[in-house]
Amino acid sequence: MPRLVMKFGGTSVADLACIRNAAQKVKREVENGFEVVVIVSAMSGKTNELVGWVNETAPMFDAREYDAVVSSGENVTAGLMALSLQGMGVPARSWQGWQVPLKTTSAHGAARITEIPCDNLDAKFAEGMKVAVVAGFQGLAADGRITTLGRGGSDTTAVAFAAALKADRCDIYTDVDGVFTTDPRITDKARKLDRISYEEMLELASLGAKVLQTRSVELAMRFNVRLRVLSSFEDARENSGTLVCPEEEIMENNVVSGVAYSRDEAKMTLVSVADRPGIAAAIFSPLAAAGVNVDMIVQNISEEGRTDMTFSCPTNQVALASKALDAARDSGEINFHDLIADKDVCKVSVVGIGMRSHAGVAAQMFEALAAEGVNIKVITTSEIKVSVLVDRKYMELAVQALHDTFNLENAA
Ligand code: ADP
Ligand code: ASP
Ligand code: MG
Repeated sequence: MPRLVMKFGGTSVADLACIRNAAQKVKREVENGFEVVVIVSAMSGKTNELVGWVNETAPMFDAREYDAVVSSGENVTAGLMALSLQGMGVPARSWQGWQVPLKTTSAHGAARITEIPCDNLDAKFAEGMKVAVVAGFQGLAADGRITTLGRGGSDTTAVAFAAALKADRCDIYTDVDGVFTTDPRITDKARKLDRISYEEMLELASLGAKVLQTRSVELAMRFNVRLRVLSSFEDARENSGTLVCPEEEIMENNVVSGVAYSRDEAKMTLVSVADRPGIAAAIFSPLAAAGVNVDMIVQNISEEGRTDMTFSCPTNQVALASKALDAARDSGEINFHDLIADKDVCKVSVVGIGMRSHAGVAAQMFEALAAEGVNIKVITTSEIKVSVLVDRKYMELAVQALHDTFNLENAA
C-alpha cells in the first residue's frame, strides 16, 4: 500500500477542535488508499510553557531532565489524535518516540536521528492498522534516555519517517498556506511560492525562516523526500501549498526567491588584538571548545600591528562567549583591550539560486538598505545568499525594503 507522512504543527493541534479538523484530513487520505504515519507537535504554546517551567526550576538544568519534561507535550497530542481518529472509525494507534523506537544520538536538546527501525509499525500495518500517530520531536538515546531534536524538531521527525518508510510524500501542515517569499507576518506583500528548491529552502531555514526546521530540509534533500508545506486550515487542492523539490523541477529560477531574518543575533567585537599569524585560531578555538556557534566573522585592517575582530553568535551565547574569551586572555593565549557585545542586532538575508549566474544582487541589496537609512554592520555572502547584520529596530523595514527591491510581490 502507498504510504504518506502527514505532520501537524502546534497551531494545527492547538485544541480539540483543531485535532478533529486534522484527523478529518488524515481520514480523507486513508480513504484515498494510503497507510498514514501522522506526526504531531505539542499543542501550540505548550513546549514554551514546559521550557519555562524547566528554566524556573533549575536555570543550570540537567539536559536529560529538560528532555524528559519538554518532550511530554507531544505525548498528549499523539494520544488525542489517535482517539479522534478511532472516533471516526479509522483504525489508529499512538506511538511515543521510544516505542518505535526512533533512535538518536545522546546530544540532549539537539539530538540527531540515527535510525528508525520500522518493523514494529510494519507489523501493525500488516494487522490492519491504518494510521500510526507518532509523537514528534522526541527520540531514544542508546542509554535508554528520552531525547529531543531541537525546537521545531517535529518537521525532522516527519521527514525522517518519510525517508525510512519510503513514503510517497511528506506533507507538513501548518498555519500558513506554504513557503512564502518572506514571513507573511512581516509584510502582506509576501507571496506563496508554488515550488522552491531544496538548496534555497535549506538556506532560508538556516537563516531564520522557521516554517521548516533546517535539519528536516537537509534530510529531505539527502533522501529525495517529496516535501510539501500546506495549511491545515484550508481544503487541499491540486496545487495547494509549496513543493520543496530538486532545482531541475523548477522552470524559471528567480534571482532572489526569498528574504529571511533572524532576531536572535548578537555582535561581539574584540578591540585591539595583536595581528599575528595564528590569532584567529587563538580566538575561535576557545569559542568552539565552549560550544559557541559563531556565524559571521570580520577582521578589520590592522594599524601598528593591532586589529579589531568582530563576530556574531546567538544572543543567548553572549555570556558563554565572554567567559571563554576572558579565560583565554587570563591564560595569556590572547590579548585584547576590550570586548564589546551588541545584543540589539538582527540578521537579514536574501536567498536565490539565480544569484549563481547573476551579478549585482549584493549591490542592489545594499542600495535598497541605504535608501532606507539602514546602516550595515557586517556582511557575509555565499553562492546563493547575501546576509547583513543591522540594528534590530530596522528588522521589519529592512525585510520590506528587500522584498520590494527584488520585486518579490510578483513572484510565484
Ligand atoms: P508549526 O507550529 O506548524 O510548526 P511554525 O510556527 O514552526 O509552525 O512555522 C510556521 C511559521 O513560520 C509561520 O506562521 C510564519 O510566521 C513563519 N515563517 C517564517 N518565514 C516564513 C516563510 N518564508 N514562509 C512561510 N512562513 C514563514
Ligand atoms: N513542540 C516542539 C517545539 O515547539 C517541536 C515542534 O513543534 O516541532 O519546538
Ligand atoms: Mg515548526
